[in-house]
Amino acid sequence: MVSTLLEYQKNSYRKILLSEVVSCEKSLGPENLKGSELYRITLKDTILFPEGGGQPEDHGFLDDISVVHVRRENGIVAHYTLSPLAVGKEVTIKLDWERRFDHMQQHSAQHLITAIAEQDFNMATTSWWLGETYSFIELDIDFNRFDEKFLKLLEERANELILQGAKVEVTVYEEGDEKPEEARTRGLPDNHSGPIRVITIDGVDTNMCCGTHVNNLLHLQMIKILEVEKGKKGKTNLYFIAGRRVSQSLSRCLGREKQLSSLLKNGPEEHVMLVDKLIKSTKQSEKVCSSLWKEVAKNEAKLFKELPLKPKLYELHRKDGTTDFVNTFSNEVKEFAEGTVFFITYAETQSEAHVMLIGPEETLKSASPMILKMFDGKGAARGGRFQAKVRSLAKRKEVLEFLKKESLLPTSE
Ligand SMILES: [Zn+2]
Repeated sequence: MVSTLLEYQKNSYRKILLSEVVSCEKSLGPENLKGSELYRITLKDTILFPEGGGQPEDHGFLDDISVVHVRRENGIVAHYTLSPLAVGKEVTIKLDWERRFDHMQQHSAQHLITAIAEQDFNMATTSWWLGETYSFIELDIDFNRFDEKFLKLLEERANELILQGAKVEVTVYEEGDEKPEEARTRGLPDNHSGPIRVITIDGVDTNMCCGTHVNNLLHLQMIKILEVEKGKKGKTNLYFIAGRRVSQSLSRCLGREKQLSSLLKNGPEEHVMLVDKLIKSTKQSEKVCSSLWKEVAKNEAKLFKELPLKPKLYELHRKDGTTDFVNTFSNEVKEFAEGTVFFITYAETQSEAHVMLIGPEETLKSASPMILKMFDGKGAARGGRFQAKVRSLAKRKEVLEFLKKESLLPTSE
């Protein structure tokens, strides 16, 4: 029987392939690409892997035309592009090898971790996910029952097997062949048709899978188990990285460490202790600040209380005020709110300011809509106070003029 396998299924290391355009038609494209005018191209053979078995699709080119999406449709690989290609034309398929090799490393690492978790720790894999920076395997064990000591043992075992350099082989069973008994069905997509591929890690694992894999465990370089977290009900998600991602991740960590060393003016060994110290001292400063602001507010209120003649409108602005300040001030002066309208503003940040109005209910009711409109803010009146968060205090003067209108202010006794 003639093999119906495509080149990516036969040789996952092939980066360039000469092929021929079988069909090319205008298409709306798959669901997630709707809206763009696309061409659906099928080829005699391809090295571009359509997503499947948990592995994302490949990126690549047909001559100089970028393939925006590649997927399996009724057993045929459809390549979506923004430009057409003539039927019968010879095309050179170029694979984005860096992306593909990364996927091969993560996918083969998943097979290896899954096999060890099952054989050595009796934890079955129920699904897995290959992400852009890390991947996870969903283990069929309740998170509360998961023993973290497995992580170290699992990682050690995986890296030991990588060092031993077991071969990874693909065996293909054509339609009609007797299917292998020992192969598990995990990883085989529901819509699968045609030949069945079995991936064997020599002496470790045999598993049905449509994905692309490294041909020797040495090509995984290294596996790093990151952490476990609670998954769906009764499941635990185990996060990992493999291959180049290990050194990329280490570079990012070192970069952050370097930044922290420069900020904290000390080496990595001291980071945790220094940050802990910093957090404690910030909390202490916040406490001091809060009590100082309350004191400032009391003094501000005292200035008002000492006025022999109380004005109908009293304004106050602190460009660096806080909630502690306005709340304390408002409590201190609320007994005067029937005869005086207090207009208090403060800005916490460059892009956010606050307004508070204290006074008779009628004033708050009639003045607040206009204040919100003039300041472009959001707020409400409650318990004798109107409070609003606004974008800018640029119109503060205009608002003051508006408040000075006799009708809004308390009538003299
Ligand atoms: Zn697989």
